[in-house]
Amino acid sequence: MLIDSHVNLHAPAYYRDLDDVMHRAREKGVQVMVTICCRMNEFARALAITEMYDDVWCTLGIHPHHAADDPEITPEILTALADHPKVIGIGETGLDYHYDYSPREDQLTNLRTHAEVARRTGLPLVLHTREADEDMMAFLQAENAGEDFSFILHSYTSGEALARLAAERGGYFSVNGIASFRNAGEVRGVIANIMPMDRIILETDCPYLAPVPKRGRRNEPSYLSYINDCLGAIKGIPPTETAKQTAHNFFELFPRAVSSKQVESS
Ligand SMILES: [Zn+2]
Repeated sequence: MLIDSHVNLHAPAYYRDLDDVMHRAREKGVQVMVTICCRMNEFARALAITEMYDDVWCTLGIHPHHAADDPEITPEILTALADHPKVIGIGETGLDYHYDYSPREDQLTNLRTHAEVARRTGLPLVLHTREADEDMMAFLQAENAGEDFSFILHSYTSGEALARLAAERGGYFSVNGIASFRNAGEVRGVIANIMPMDRIILETDCPYLAPVPKRGRRNEPSYLSYINDCLGAIKGIPPTETAKQTAHNFFELFPRAVSSKQVESS
């Protein structure tokens, strides 16, 4: 079984052929997916998709790109919405100083609000971080990440120091198609040398970031096997093993998914 921990199945990119996309995912052994909410006005559709497919879960959050759109959002509002059994994580939130679509102050406020929700709900925080290593390190330490709440750095492209700190604090990492790109030697180095194998999970981040040999196309969960193969090559482990280990890690990080799985199978 492969688990795609970060998809955007509610995106307009799949409005026309979602059933076909899901069918191809199942044919390739992808059986669990998490559709990631990035703004409040897409939460309803993300949740609706989890109700259409038993093995699809979702998160609740506001992406740093959209941090300035919802200045009124409070931990109370998010905590109440996160009560739904299909919501298994908080985010994605984080810091993106590459695009700076929202002012950095708004991004930091948004991030702290989400951390408070993770603390209150016991759900893991899904973090996006790009060209913000210093501030992300300060955040993880100030908020006692790893102790007060669990967290994952998704689509990791940041530096070694942040990866080391996150690993020391018990953080998880997700590997995606970037690891297969020819110019991503530094990312592969961080995966090989710093990310502990028992803290790595897989994602496509579809419809973005299709892995080699599909690079440039619309991405979809059925391409996850290319990413799993790539992880195996980087770590020097057979892909059957990386599939097993990453699935195990996923349920460690997202316990609400496992408890619901047990409910369904009992
Ligand atoms: Zn992201």
